[in-house]
Amino acid sequence: MLKYCLECDWQVSTADGYTEKEVSEKAIEHFVETGHTIDSLRLPPPIVMQN
Ligand SMILES: [Zn+2]
Repeated sequence: MLKYCLECDWQVSTADGYTEKEVSEKAIEHFVETGHTIDSLRLPPPIVMQN
């Protein structure tokens, strides 16, 4: 899950170590603080390297 702002450079992603719940909460927080429009992309699951 990647959520990003259509009006500034803000973005937050599960690739940064956040859970999907935290990503959603941070997106809502950004919207509440700025009134900016947030869009989201669903990321493919992370690839786990196995040796
Ligand atoms: Zn913004």
